Amino acid sequence: MVRLKTEDASSHNGMAARGACIMVIFLVVWMGTAGCVVNEPTPKDSSKVQPITVAVTILPQKQFVERIGGENVRVIVLVPPGASPHTHEPTPGQMAEVSTAALYFKVGSGIEFERAWMDKISGVNPGMPIIDSSEGVALIQGGDEEDAAEGPPEQDQIGLDPHIWLSPRNAKVMVEHTFEGLVGIDPGNETQYRANKEQYLKELDALDADISKALSEKVERRIMVYHPAWTYLARDYNLTQIPVELEGKEPTPKGLESLIRQAKESNITVVFASPEFSTKSAEVVAQEIDGKVVLVSSLSEDYLENMRKVATAFAQE
Ligand SMILES: [Zn+2]
Repeated sequence: MVRLKTEDASSHNGMAARGACIMVIFLVVWMGTAGCVVNEPTPKDSSKVQPITVAVTILPQKQFVERIGGENVRVIVLVPPGASPHTHEPTPGQMAEVSTAALYFKVGSGIEFERAWMDKISGVNPGMPIIDSSEGVALIQGGDEEDAAEGPPEQDQIGLDPHIWLSPRNAKVMVEHTFEGLVGIDPGNETQYRANKEQYLKELDALDADISKALSEKVERRIMVYHPAWTYLARDYNLTQIPVELEGKEPTPKGLESLIRQAKESNITVVFASPEFSTKSAEVVAQEIDGKVVLVSSLSEDYLENMRKVATAFAQE
């Protein structure tokens, strides 16, 4: 009897379990379907449909914002591909676009585009928070000395080298600001942004280690570059850059002579130029030393990949 009861019970339980199982499947399917319809207008899903518009100055910052914000952000870049943050002027279309942004990440560090245009940008979008990504970066003096002479002495960030993003150690600071800025306007997604940030920081650490390794075996520590964008990279990885261009100007004939002499003394055979800038005087120097011009970008959108390419190019010279 006991055995029979047990069989009955187990068989009953089995049926109940199957029944429950079917019910659960039905409920999941039904809820899933209903969920799609009912949940669509809630704020969480509508944020996926309408990403937050975030404005940045240069292309490498786009990767920082996209890697942390994911699908929640749409990034507009004020200095477009091929343009220079030292000379670019925003178009009326760009001003209209930035007027709709919810947040702006400045490079900071006194880059000319921001010094010239930030007031006008905040003028068309007065409520937009502007985050300075350079806060906490140890800035290097010796950017554009011509501007330093012109500017009022109390105005800081003048005479600083603005190219902070070109060292992964500075990029990590910029990424922290990116995270804090995004959380500031979208605190509901903090957990997700934090996880994304931690992952990206790990990749920047790996990049840092790879660059250290690539450059550690380099014997000649001097590199000749057309535009002196690599000041922070040179500081962090113990290199010296010899710029062809100085203060935004082509070298004088005497300056060219001196560059050619320095290159010969250091057995330099490559002049690194940027696709964003003229290479004319870089070509002249390269010809005189029987060397060549190699293009390395300081403004590429794929920051991680580009920095690896740059380090490899510098290591090979
Ligand atoms: Zn530059």
